[in-house]
Amino acid sequence: MADYIISGGTVVTMNADRDIIKAGAVVLEGDKIKAVGPDRKIRRDYSPAGGTVEIIDAAEKIVFPGLINTHVHSFQTLLKGLETDTGLDRWLTNVITPSVAEVNEQEAYYGAVLSGLDALRSGTTTVTDYQYAQHMYELNPAVVKGFRDLGLRLVFARGFADTGVQFGANPAELESIDVIDDGTRRLVREYPGDESRLIMIALAPSAVWMCTPELLEWAAAFSREYGLLVTSHIAETDYDNECSVAVHGRGDFGACEQHGLINERMLMVHCVRLREEDVRRAAEKGAAFSYNPVSNMYLASGAAPLREILRHGLTGSFGTDGAASNNSNDMLETMKAGILQAKSFYRDPQAFTAMNALEYAAISGARALGLEDQIGSIETGKKADLFIFNPSASAKSTPCHEPVAGLAYASDSRNIETVFVNGRPVLLNNTVTGLHERTAIQAAGEAARRLVERMRRSLQL
Ligand SMILES: [Zn+2]
Repeated sequence: MADYIISGGTVVTMNADRDIIKAGAVVLEGDKIKAVGPDRKIRRDYSPAGGTVEIIDAAEKIVFPGLINTHVHSFQTLLKGLETDTGLDRWLTNVITPSVAEVNEQEAYYGAVLSGLDALRSGTTTVTDYQYAQHMYELNPAVVKGFRDLGLRLVFARGFADTGVQFGANPAELESIDVIDDGTRRLVREYPGDESRLIMIALAPSAVWMCTPELLEWAAAFSREYGLLVTSHIAETDYDNECSVAVHGRGDFGACEQHGLINERMLMVHCVRLREEDVRRAAEKGAAFSYNPVSNMYLASGAAPLREILRHGLTGSFGTDGAASNNSNDMLETMKAGILQAKSFYRDPQAFTAMNALEYAAISGARALGLEDQIGSIETGKKADLFIFNPSASAKSTPCHEPVAGLAYASDSRNIETVFVNGRPVLLNNTVTGLHERTAIQAAGEAARRLVERMRRSLQL
């Protein structure tokens, strides 16, 4: 039996051979991909006679594996366009620091909804949300509900910090290790994870210099105990490394390595100032990397050392970062920006190609999250996470001679017609299925206005 047959499109599988099947088809059953192959064979083997299978006509369209965003801060979606063009210091002081202490449950929910809508409309099926506003536990379930209402796959990374006020950390962000331990255990109990893999808990030490050595040790032990992914901002700027040297006697990477965090469960975000020797050691130990080109350019942080990262085989993925340092969670824009940043930084057209970008956004992104056997490609037995791309939906994307180049260079949300997550359509023929999109966007806009008004009042005090 099959539930859906996506029929007649070009299927970009991202399997080990990177097969692209022209006039292909994908069969979905339950939460999984049941079969993928030439349309004629699939239609013969899975004829709908007597069944309830739904045929989705994908002729003249392209089927891609769902994109995987490995770094987001969803509540920042409410803070777009504030303190633009000022750089990291002022942006942190005037936007991020006050918001962390102010955001409430309703705002956290709408931040997740807005972020998730932007994500799914850009073909994203998995989001890693790094939630560091922790002044009340209730923010966490509110965020989870936002992504659940949309039907997205979520890695929920619980942020934490216990020091760093001397370098600009907000005291409201800091918690004791006991409180962090209690809160994280509660989360793991509440969201133990199941076969659906629709929600997974991860650990997110904030900036490395915002964690004492004891807290990093705690994170390493907790990650070992529960087998959880750890993700942290690593070497985003020289300032981060300098602060870490003051707190730990080593830069971000060295401190994490010293405390047992550099291993196959570590996802390092940004890495703009990571030295080649550290790239090599990270690759050797099986860690992974999240490339956030739009955010790095937006905050004028620089360019991650992609050439070294590719040369040493460090597993890579894409993140949009929070919308406050990007203005969107659009993965299509991120892919294009990531390619162009690397090409221009190295003055080399081969530095990072369209195929490299799709690998980062799909199969390699899955590997970075430890989910390579579940998602990231269109292969039999994997979770049914994919999207249908209509190249004739806009002048921008027409003509589309090469599917991967079309996706990477000439696409936007107008091309994303249908998105499946876990075998269920979360966007069907351009309509969001989980909630009423226009009503949600309006409510989110109002929530954002209220939050920013309170932030401005608190800054004037
Ligand atoms: Zn970030």
